[in-house]
Amino acid sequence: MTDLVPVVRTVADLRAQVQQWRLEGLKVGLVPTMGALHHGHLSLVHAIAEKCDKIVVSIFVNPTQFGKNEDLDKYPRDEKNDREKLASTPATLVFAPSAAEMYPAGYNTTVSVEGISSLLEGAERPGHFDGVATIVSKLLLQCLPDVAIFGEKDYQQLAVIRQMVADLNIPVEIMGGTLIRETDGLAASSRNAYLKADERKIAGQLNYILRGLAHSVLDGSDFRTAEQTATNKLISAGFTSVDYVTIADAETLEPVSDLSKPTRVLAVARIGGVRLLDNMPIEPHP
Ligand code: AMP
Repeated sequence: MTDLVPVVRTVADLRAQVQQWRLEGLKVGLVPTMGALHHGHLSLVHAIAEKCDKIVVSIFVNPTQFGKNEDLDKYPRDEKNDREKLASTPATLVFAPSAAEMYPAGYNTTVSVEGISSLLEGAERPGHFDGVATIVSKLLLQCLPDVAIFGEKDYQQLAVIRQMVADLNIPVEIMGGTLIRETDGLAASSRNAYLKADERKIAGQLNYILRGLAHSVLDGSDFRTAEQTATNKLISAGFTSVDYVTIADAETLEPVSDLSKPTRVLAVARIGGVRLLDNMPIEPHP
């Protein structure tokens, strides 16, 4: 039988454990997740281990970041399997609270980061980043880690959290984790499990087409034309619809028309009801 990483379910138990580690002079890291762990999540645990002695992985499917018609009810949940996977990583403790522990009766506070939350994912999923900012600020205050890590898979989420932590003077270092991909380039995601075999094949085209966009921009294509060409290619490849393909400033995520500052392409395309996110830097090769 595989060992399971130990779990605590209350804020009080989490705090007691973290306080003990602090008394021992140990450095504590937090990896927030919604579970259904895959190698993308596990890479965050390995990355934060370089800076921390003890690592808490939180598993909580946060209802407030799902829209009304989104997949909250069918979101994959398998805590035992997650804890088994974590057993082969440097993770020390799982924090898996109930919804009532996180949002008890009478709960009435929302954290909202203006500006960057209203673009791209924020425009497509109204209220999503309020849910994210609220749960992440709660997790940071509950755990009080030295370091917390978030994946570049959700590039805008990482930017929103950096802004929130700076604005609220939360004493934590925010690390970004490299986007981990499957062999065909598809970004690893818990939602990939929703794809049927034929859809899964199409999904691999998203990263291929974005890499083509990056090359064409580096070869001098007009940015808006390159975005439209990539959108057309996605539809031809079998994607049902494209929410956006945007070449943007890597910090503000506002659209740009030249490469004078660090630049990123961010995209979301759908296959049936499944939204697939991807992003990558557009960097001139030396
Ligand atoms: P989630 O469980 O989807 O909320 O993701 C939890 C954390 O894992 C977030 O910081 C994500 O950005 C990160 N993550 C998810 N998929 C990947 C991936 N393919 N590569 C790197 N980080 C990821």
